[in-house]
Amino acid sequence: MAEQAQAADSGPRPIVPFLKLQPKPHLMGSKCGNCGLVLLDTSRVACSRCGATEGFKPLALSDKGKVYVFSVVHQSFPGIKTPYITAIVDLPEGVSVRSNIIGIDAEDAQKNPKQLFDLPVEMITNVVAKDREGHDVVAFAFKPSKK
Ligand SMILES: [Zn+2]
Repeated sequence: MAEQAQAADSGPRPIVPFLKLQPKPHLMGSKCGNCGLVLLDTSRVACSRCGATEGFKPLALSDKGKVYVFSVVHQSFPGIKTPYITAIVDLPEGVSVRSNIIGIDAEDAQKNPKQLFDLPVEMITNVVAKDREGHDVVAFAFKPSKK
């Protein structure tokens, strides 16, 4: 019995609750039933536009978006490789999500910032760590979309 529970529970773990890994990796938002605003995450207590506190519907968000603004990070926590690109990515549902951008050289991004603004990007996931029980911990990032 205990073994069965363990087996069912042995999958990878998303790093944030609004990252879902099945059936394919995607972010979850909630749509306000009152005004239609879409918010990142499904644990909102109130709509930031109309103040409604109920009637939210979970909504799977697109895995494609566009870079709204970005910054090159040169100093981070010990063990985090720098420089890297962090950005605000706008999703078509009207949600903005903070994420790292991979697949673009950070130094080059700083020299040529125009290449990033409005750049079409798509979400990818990668294993960033293992938790205490040995499960893969999965994070998300965005990379330039294939044309
Ligand atoms: Zn609302």
